[in-house]
Amino acid sequence: MAERLRGKPVADAMKEDLVKRIESLKAKGITPKIGIIRVGANPDDLFYEGGIKKTSDGIGLAYEIKEHAEDVSQEELEKTVKAAGADDSIHGILMFAPLPKQLDEKKIRALIPVEKDVDCMTLGGAGKVFADDETGFPPCTPTACMEILKFYDIPLKGKEITVVGRSLVVGKPMAMLLLRQHATVTICHSRTVDLDKVCAKADILVAAVGRAKMINDRYVKPGQIVIDVGINADPDRPGKYCGDVDLETVEPIVEKITPVPGGVGSVTTIMLCKHTVIACEAQQ
Ligand code: NAP
Repeated sequence: MAERLRGKPVADAMKEDLVKRIESLKAKGITPKIGIIRVGANPDDLFYEGGIKKTSDGIGLAYEIKEHAEDVSQEELEKTVKAAGADDSIHGILMFAPLPKQLDEKKIRALIPVEKDVDCMTLGGAGKVFADDETGFPPCTPTACMEILKFYDIPLKGKEITVVGRSLVVGKPMAMLLLRQHATVTICHSRTVDLDKVCAKADILVAAVGRAKMINDRYVKPGQIVIDVGINADPDRPGKYCGDVDLETVEPIVEKITPVPGGVGSVTTIMLCKHTVIACEAQQ
């Protein structure tokens, strides 16, 4: 049976480090703060927001939430983003996306200053990720995967790593972060031919597909390490969620695996806090 790479010990170690860093900023009279911008009341956004508030409270990070109705105008939302960008007491900005259709999201995202772009919402932020500029903040989910790999001492240099998914928030930045660590990376997507065979060849498999339990025993091999990024409604257990990997059939085969729940998702929120603290330190 595979060793489970749980997210909680990773998140706990990160919290311990952040508490010290926040205390030392506070000793200089600076309280790091994240500005959260939310339009409407999407349950997923509210769930994530609740997690951010709880985690922030636990480590002494401040937050400020700016909430707008679903029918907010372009002008009004632009004003909010510009104000957060200009506010020296806010060091990182998270804006929930996608925005409602009446809004020009591209234009609004571009108003976030790159130095406060803690979840990689701007083209400038994405550019830094792709250019290996470490002053940029990659999206929190792939960064959380990297923290897990580092915490569990999993070597990446020279390893064959397959990433299933090429989204801008997970798959592509994940591949860039792995390349930075000298892995040989294959990126797969919905048109990849013989996906199961490509996956089964890898030393490390990262599943970011958005399809419940799609990666099953046909996609893996003994000795493999599997990182499951997926968060999906569990088709077999109403009200519960599951990953993109079929834990039941994959766990007996591979060497190590991040479980869902309790894996990558448990590290994402603290990752956002870490980015905000780094942004705050850099802005001093
Ligand atoms: P997304 O934007 O829907 O992208 C999914 C990717 O998977 C696309 O590149 C798509 O290929 C590919 N794909 C879909 N069906 C496929 C198939 N049958 N075979 C091969 N590739 C296929 O999703 P995302 O935002 O990247 O999220 C991926 C997963 O991570 C989701 O389960 C999401 O809930 C989860 N997630 C977790 C966290 C966390 O904190 N743990 C955060 C964000 C997202 P094409 O490009 O060809 O369409």
